[in-house]
Amino acid sequence: MPSLVSHAVVGLAVGIAISTKHPDHSFVWLSVIASCFPDIDGLSFALGIPYKSLFGHRGFFHSILFAILLSSTIVYLYFPEARLFSVSWFFYESIFFLITMSHGILDAMTAGGMGVAFFSPFSQKRYLFPWKPLVACPLTLKDFFSEWGKIVAKSEFMWIWLPSFAIIVLSIWFK
Ligand SMILES: [Zn+2]
Repeated sequence: MPSLVSHAVVGLAVGIAISTKHPDHSFVWLSVIASCFPDIDGLSFALGIPYKSLFGHRGFFHSILFAILLSSTIVYLYFPEARLFSVSWFFYESIFFLITMSHGILDAMTAGGMGVAFFSPFSQKRYLFPWKPLVACPLTLKDFFSEWGKIVAKSEFMWIWLPSFAIIVLSIWFK
């Protein structure tokens, strides 16, 4: 997986881009939460839940259905003025759905680890994209500050941070 900070950077970039056009600035922190939330299943390692299982890492919490549930919950709680199936509801829903999905998509573009169960709970098949420019992030602090950590930082800077900063700069420029 990319580091959690890099997932957050994607949420931050989209949140800032939307908030330049939208008066509600809660978009920024909600987007950051949505982009990172799927990794809540990282707790599965500590809880002894097998990696491959429904609630294992990159399982249900990284799925399309979970992204729909999370985006619907965010819209219900934070944008109650958006009537169900109205234009604004679809707008909020699709923004938070895409931000949450960005997490699984980036994980599936990472070389290393098992793939993402996009269709969980209906199928536990794990998917990795054929193009994997990202390097799996080390899980220990020792590895993080090693040569491996440097390679990870370089790949995430190139493929996540640079495009995210470009989105931020362009959205502020053209607001
Ligand atoms: Zn993840």
